[in-house]
Amino acid sequence: MSDPRRPRRFWFVTMGCQMNRHDSVRMAESLRAAGLEPAAGPADADVCIVNTCCVREKAEQKARSAVGRLAAWKRRRAGRRVIVAGCAAERRRAGWLDDFAHIDAVLGPDRLGELPGVAAVPPAADLPLVAAGFTAGRPEDFLAARPDLSGPGPTAFVTVSKGCGERCTFCIVPAVRGPLRLRPAEDVVAEAAGLAAAGVREVTLIGQAVNDYRRDGVAFGELLRRVGAVAGLLRLRYTSPHPRFVDEETARAHAETPVLCEHVHLPVQSGSDEVLRRMGRRYRRDDYRRAIDRLRGARADLTFGTDVIVGFPGETEAQFEETVALVREVGFTQVFSFAYSPRPGTAAARWPDDVPAAEKARRLRRLQRVADEIAGAWRRGRVGAAEEVLLEGPSDRAGGTWQGRTRHNDVVHVRPAAGFTPEPGALLRVTIEEARPHCLAGTPVAEAS
Ligand code: SF4
Repeated sequence: MSDPRRPRRFWFVTMGCQMNRHDSVRMAESLRAAGLEPAAGPADADVCIVNTCCVREKAEQKARSAVGRLAAWKRRRAGRRVIVAGCAAERRRAGWLDDFAHIDAVLGPDRLGELPGVAAVPPAADLPLVAAGFTAGRPEDFLAARPDLSGPGPTAFVTVSKGCGERCTFCIVPAVRGPLRLRPAEDVVAEAAGLAAAGVREVTLIGQAVNDYRRDGVAFGELLRRVGAVAGLLRLRYTSPHPRFVDEETARAHAETPVLCEHVHLPVQSGSDEVLRRMGRRYRRDDYRRAIDRLRGARADLTFGTDVIVGFPGETEAQFEETVALVREVGFTQVFSFAYSPRPGTAAARWPDDVPAAEKARRLRRLQRVADEIAGAWRRGRVGAAEEVLLEGPSDRAGGTWQGRTRHNDVVHVRPAAGFTPEPGALLRVTIEEARPHCLAGTPVAEAS
């Protein structure tokens, strides 16, 4: 007979990037494999896992608030457990237990495999527990997808690597996710094949600098080709590549792999050589332009997204304007921009954070205005086009509208139409009728072939 004190239902609070959302899916699968079920909401849960982010100061504050609120949640029912996982767990390790007495376990991103051992067992004497630090790059250290347990949607991530081999001076990731460790290509392909067989239509290969990949003679371009050949897969993406590793083979893969989508998110961070040097990015503005040209040379219709940090220590107005100029030159259709905030433990945190907050906010607004202008022009140019849209699910809007994305990664709200029976994973041709501030809207014309 099962122990009645054994937790039965779990709930996740997930913060931060796509990598964390992906980790939460993998963790949920490992809990289901151990016999737990997802709760309908926190009130129904026995275990709450806060999957934290610490890439920016604000994210870490949010994680602390979420964990703090769980003290009252835990008191409401005996036997409940609070688990702090992810990057901020690694950064503070036992410091979490000093600050919050109600925490049962702290698991760094490399120790997520230990979750069932702390969440799915009857009350154990060895809690609270802190599991942190990095394992070696053995294939079994990668939490493999279990589509049989998660009931996958039409899109999924597949992990290519853990950690990061770069040392950008502003970035806490190598400290909290460890050195670069690569997954064998055959495991990546097998996981993509398993997901496709389970109904996933779009796979995104994910890693911190995902194209910093060469294992057993397989480089990133070849990996793209192999995953691109998986039966049943309709779309392939990758995130986030590093400009230093955009090589000819990757460009050729774009030309020769039909399922590879025509959008690449290629973080630039700054358009100033001097700022890039201090950021430790190890490329210059011209190198970045060459990476873009190389990819466009292979697929002229590629669009690009990017990440930008404004107000990095010492960034002058002129250096900031070089970034704005680069954003215009490349014509990014998506720009994620952030005001610099120092992260303890990084090289840049030792330098004066000398761009005043108000000035950072002004630069951010200016950059976002320029980015919106370019993206708006791009979206208005799509009106009248028949775009291929992969439906992901009903959108928030009432009235039978569904949401999907184009191959260029534009979100499209698909309006109901006669003879249109929406289902997740359907590939449709949609006539774009409207360009909205951050998305497109249109009506299906026929199933895309
Ligand atoms: S490439 Fe640079 S910014 Fe990206 S995770 Fe690695 S160290 Fe951080």
